[in-house]
Parts: sequence; structure tokens; C-alpha cells
Amino acid sequence: MHTKLIVVTGGVLSGVGKGTVTASIARLIKNQGFKVTAIKIDPYINIDAGTMRPTEHGEVFVTDDGGETDQDLGTYERFLSEDLLKDQNITTGQVYETVIHKERNLEYDGKCVEVIPHIPQEIKRRINSTCEAHKADFCMIEVGGTIGDYQNVLFLEALRQMRLEGDAVVFVHVGYLPIPNNLGEMKTKPMQRSVRDLNSIGIQPDFIVSRSSRPLDDVRKQKISLFCNVKPEEVISAPDVKYIYEVPLLFEEQTICSKILAKFGMKYKQGTMSEWKKMVDRIKSAEKEVKIGIIGKYFDIGDFTLEDSYISVIESIKHACWHNNAKPNIVWVDSKQFEKDEKSLSKLDEFDGIIVPGGFGSSGVEGKMKAIGYARQKKIPFLGLCYGMQLAVIEFARSVCRMEGANSTEINKSTKYPVIDILPEQKKIIEESHYGGTMRLGGYKAVLKKNTIVHKLYGKDEVSERHRHRYEVNPDYIQKIEEKGLVFSGRSPNGVLMEFIELPDHPYFVATQAHPEFKSRPDMPAPLFNGLIKACLKK
Ligand code: GLN
Repeated sequence: MHTKLIVVTGGVLSGVGKGTVTASIARLIKNQGFKVTAIKIDPYINIDAGTMRPTEHGEVFVTDDGGETDQDLGTYERFLSEDLLKDQNITTGQVYETVIHKERNLEYDGKCVEVIPHIPQEIKRRINSTCEAHKADFCMIEVGGTIGDYQNVLFLEALRQMRLEGDAVVFVHVGYLPIPNNLGEMKTKPMQRSVRDLNSIGIQPDFIVSRSSRPLDDVRKQKISLFCNVKPEEVISAPDVKYIYEVPLLFEEQTICSKILAKFGMKYKQGTMSEWKKMVDRIKSAEKEVKIGIIGKYFDIGDFTLEDSYISVIESIKHACWHNNAKPNIVWVDSKQFEKDEKSLSKLDEFDGIIVPGGFGSSGVEGKMKAIGYARQKKIPFLGLCYGMQLAVIEFARSVCRMEGANSTEINKSTKYPVIDILPEQKKIIEESHYGGTMRLGGYKAVLKKNTIVHKLYGKDEVSERHRHRYEVNPDYIQKIEEKGLVFSGRSPNGVLMEFIELPDHPYFVATQAHPEFKSRPDMPAPLFNGLIKACLKK
């Protein structure tokens, strides 16, 4: 295969930023003038991330071609500034599904189909076909989970075989070095152990990335080098940083890119990260604080990190803030408090703007609508995303159009005013319980109405944003709602689906049926987030 592979594995513990390491190396190599792409391997049986709860597994990142993928693909997109596709998230479920399907079709020539060699064979086929389809010079492959898990062993076996069979592969192992409080000293033993485990499955890493709260000192670098069988200069220090976008620069200082290229026998060009550095400088110098409340049903979910479930929304807020020389202060606001106590709505006064993000089901929605109504009346800048738009339409129908009890049929099937209703093609899907991968998914075009806020922000007549929903604004109510002043500022090209709404006499009351957060980049904020932050700064 022409594509060179850079495989990133993880040890010691999960959640230490393997995705950021992968994305950072990807960007460094891209800036050397290569076509770089990335694959995330997820060892779970789910065919895709779409059937998993974001509060447990993290955000479901939607690709342009309608893939419901792991949140790491979002990180790759933001760092690489490339649109990725659903074939770039490989799961155990997909691999087994294909193998079993082939077996049923007699494609194995009467052989006994076995875990070895047939599963690694299918993994290699998928990696090859993805690299070829993307015509990549380099492909980053991040292996989910940690070394020593039962689940990812067959993926590692496939990658080991690829190197043996002559593919150009470099292995980067990311591990965590804890600094226990009682010792105050950085410990390398867990890292050593995880590299041993990797060795035992036939893989010797070429580089070790040492994640820790502090930079690696020389003594530990030498120790890791000796025990993990890499040269000291192949041990990279990756301490915690304030902004993830600093990581590529941190790596560049340690010349990781030039060392990786050297492993492939390739030359390195100096000074390709100056634009990125300017961007990071701009991020660091942002001054004015913007306080944004994200309204959700958070107390349902225990201690899970909300950061992960709304990662693209959070990043989009940051990108838009930095673009406007502002720094974000993001606060989680539990919508249920507004259901119990309407007076608590006045808490929203402290925000420069609020966002109601996507969601499903009935929990907390009445509170979200109260918050939207409050923002509408008190002229607090508001951005609604997907469910956020649907709830804004319901709130408007109830309060302004006097359609008492208006609702989405997702929440109340027998509502008198079903202003949000299921898409016709979705009805049968739900009846037959075909939930996986069947929402309205991926990039869809919308035509924007001239002289609207949305048209001004995008600066064009037609846009494409990514979707993930089953319900939509019910066409039967559009005229009535519009007569009362809500503007449908963007529609599907055939005019049937409402994609954007706004209120003209409000500092910023904008919502969309789409998820514009999936296309925001650190150097190019999503237009609707940019509009929100600008309105917040004016306030
Ligand atoms: N629950 C809504 C629907 O399915 C909104 C989905 C979302 O916010 N992603 O249409």
C-alpha cells in the first residue's frame, strides 16, 4: 500500500488525550504538504456510536456522509481541517458483521471461518480500502481502549501483520505517568508495564508519548528509554496544557514530526507551523469574557463528564469566542430547576447568551422551553440546535400563537397542536424498531432567505449542515407561526423542511434543525456560533 501508517496505541489509563495526540501528529504531517487522513478503531460490538448514550460514551459525531461516529473523529476534523467519512470509524461490530455476511454467502470457499486469520484479514482490508479511497499519503490509526484489554487485541494483531507484510508503519504509544500526592514524584512503572504488554503481542513502539500533569524530566526520560526500548529522543513529553490546540506546537518543539518522517526515510521541512502558532497566540491573548449558559437536563446523569457529551458544541463556542478576541466561560444550567421554580429563570440574566443543544425524549424539555421563552422576552441572545430549534418553535406556538398545549409528537403523541412531528419516512422505521443509523443523518442543503440574520452570517444563498433527527417542523403550522413573526429563514431546497428560524426584533434569536457545531474549526468558527458571540459582546 502506498499510504504510510502511524498507529497510536494507549496504555496505563484511558481518557488521557490519545485523540488529541493523534490529531496533533496528523496536523504536523499535513503541514509538511501531505494528504493525511485518520481512522479511529473502536473495539466495541456496536456497529456505530449512534446507539450509545452520549453521557456515557461521549458525543456522537456526525460525518457529512451520515456516519454516527466516535467523538475522536470530531477532534481529527478540527485539527486536520478536513471532512472525514463514516468508513474512518471501524468497530468490532462492523468487522464481524462483514465476516459473518461473507460466510453466509459462501465467500470463504468452504473453509472453517475463524477468528484468526479471518478477523485480522477483514480489519486489514478495511484499513487498506479506507486509505485508498482517501488517496492518503499518511493515515493515522488510533486504536481505542488500552493495551491489555481483551477487546482490541485483534486490531493490534492486524496492525502487527501489516508491518510484517511490508507496509510502512510507525507505532506511537501514549501512556500516563501518575504523580501520586503522597510521593510528589512522577512514576514510570505503569508506562513500562504497558509497553511490556504491547511487546508481548509482538509490537515494539517507535515513540513513547508521556502524558502527565507536568513535563517529563531527564531522569525519567532516560528511564523510559531504557525500560521501554526506545532512544531518549523518541520519548516525547506531553504535559497538561490549557488549550488542546497547543499540543501540535509542543510536539513540534520536540521535533516529533521530523523524527517520524525520518523513520519513513523522508525529509522534513522547517517552519510549517507558523499560521497555527499565530492562531494559538490569538487564543491565548483573548481578553473579554463571554458567559454562555448551556441549558440541559443534566442532573439525570450522575457524575459523567458533560464536556465529552457536548464536545463539539463546547469547541464551537470556544472557536467563535477566540475569533472575536473573547474568552468563553461556559456554565451548565439544569433546565429542571425552571420547571420546579419559575422564579429561578432570573438566573439566566447573568448570561451573555444561552444555548439549547440537541437532545431526545421528554426529560427536562418543559424547563428548556421556559428558558427559551425567557430569552425571547428578555432579549437574551439565544442559539438553538436541533431539539433546541424544535423547542423554540413549540414555545413560540404556545406563547405567541396561543396554541395551548402545542408540542412535538416525540413528547406527546395526542397533542392538539403537533407543531413538531415525525418525518413521514421515519414512521415505519420506528414502528419496526430499526433504530440504528436510520435518523435523517449527515449533510443536507438548505436555501437561505435573503435579508435574514442567517443569510448575513453565512454570506450565501445555499448552505449545507449536518443533521441527526427524526422530527421536523410540521408544514401544516408554518403559515400560522410565520404570521405571528417567527421567520423561517432557511428551508430544504424543495421548500418542505424548515432548517433555520429567527426573530427579527431580537438581538439574536436564531436556531437550526441542523448541528452546525460539527463543522466549526479553531480557525473558522461556525457562522451561527459566531453570530451568537458577536451578539453577546454587543450586549
Ligand atoms: N429529538 C429530536 C428529533 O429526533 C431532536 C434530535 C436532536 O436534537 N439531535 O428530531
